[in-house]
Amino acid sequence: PPATSPIRVIDKDSPAFVNVVDTPVHDLLRQVVQERNIGDLSGSGDESAFFACDLSAIYQAVQMWRQSAIGERVEIFYAVKCNPSPPVLHLLSLLGTSFDCASTAEINQVLSLPTAPSPDRIIFANPCKPASFIRSAADSGVHMMTFDNADELYKVKRSFPDAKLVLRILTDDSKSLCRLGLKFGAPLDTCPGLLALAVQLGLNVIGVSFHVGSGCKDPNQFADAIWRAKKVFDMGKAVGYDFKFLDVGGGFERETFAEMSQVVSDSLDVYFPKHSGVRVIAEPGRLLVSSAFTLATNIIARRLALPSGEATPKDDHEGADVMYYINDGVYGSFNCIMFDHQIVHPHPLTISHEITKCSPSFPPPPNIHLPVDLPVQLGYKDTEAASVWGPTCDSIDCVRQLVQLPKGLQVGDWIAWSEMGAYTLCAASTFNGFNRSPVLWTTGGDHPHAIAVRATLDSFNGPER
Ligand code: PLP
Repeated sequence: PPATSPIRVIDKDSPAFVNVVDTPVHDLLRQVVQERNIGDLSGSGDESAFFACDLSAIYQAVQMWRQSAIGERVEIFYAVKCNPSPPVLHLLSLLGTSFDCASTAEINQVLSLPTAPSPDRIIFANPCKPASFIRSAADSGVHMMTFDNADELYKVKRSFPDAKLVLRILTDDSKSLCRLGLKFGAPLDTCPGLLALAVQLGLNVIGVSFHVGSGCKDPNQFADAIWRAKKVFDMGKAVGYDFKFLDVGGGFERETFAEMSQVVSDSLDVYFPKHSGVRVIAEPGRLLVSSAFTLATNIIARRLALPSGEATPKDDHEGADVMYYINDGVYGSFNCIMFDHQIVHPHPLTISHEITKCSPSFPPPPNIHLPVDLPVQLGYKDTEAASVWGPTCDSIDCVRQLVQLPKGLQVGDWIAWSEMGAYTLCAASTFNGFNRSPVLWTTGGDHPHAIAVRATLDSFNGPER
């Protein structure tokens, strides 16, 4: 098929098509920006923001996992919540990953992928589910599900007594950006009681899960969590279970992945050696999708700094010489600033309506850690302090309070933001009538990973191909 042939990705019953091109992502961004031709502000151009997704970055992340210290032992159950875009799920399913779902809608979405994964490739990893979701999982044949409290056991007993239950335990998440332990996970001293109740109800508990928190900064949290899981395996044995399942959750990040996977591997060797016959899975989200998505936004308005004395002294953006207003914000894709505690990094694609040099370092290759002030790091010498705002009427809609940007940016110029694949589109609202930014898809060009993506997509012979 031609390189830009559409792939069928939405759903096996009502096929829809998405076009995937083979253009390097930095070329794609600049190509689209050039085509939109809004520099002259004639009113005819299309300034709407858009994402470019480089599917080869997802392929590369899966390869990195599989070639790592845990690659042979730990199966990937991708956390759908992180980015449920149909082409992402389609590619991951073709690559043979399984899925972590948190709701009936996510389960239905995975089961209706064109690749039609079997229900045993799903774990329903939400410890506190509505009863109707448990019934629906039973109807769909999704057996594996987590719990961390007694009420959930009674619900499962009533709605799905044959479920394969996984006890989600509380672990130390104090070094993580998003502390999931505030909401989920049974403290160790409650586990014997929960397991005794499960026995009494005749339920099938197969093992233990945990989540060290999203954006985990300390690989040793995994070592501690795996040690705790072993204790709970022993508690299970004491009441008659023989657990054979361990779910080490998500929380993996690219920067620390080599160290983290080594820590997980070493701890598994100590507490759950291969000969124990324990199946180990993980639920990575961010690690697989974060670097694949770059968002291109347009400067829709600009205000020069208020005369001195007029800025409110308490404002953190007081030092800005110029305020830029762009067409996506914290109510949209940049909700990651609020919900996911992210700091986002701007990179101008045009300055004074001229395309910036196609820097090979933008978007940065997946193994590069982003500098704090990207434009300065990329060599823009003539910079000024700016604040960057989203498009809504709300003053909380601030994307960067203070950041160095090259001088000369004008209304109509484009700013790109990399590392925008995790917890962005999926939680974006249309508050104030601003649309969610659409995604353009590319295999990433003609480098080996991109060619592998194209081959993977083409290997799927749906009836429409
Ligand atoms: N598993 C569960 C149960 C989660 O709640 C989350 C994120 O919130 C994940 C996996 C994915 O975490 P991450 O994106 O940090 O890998």
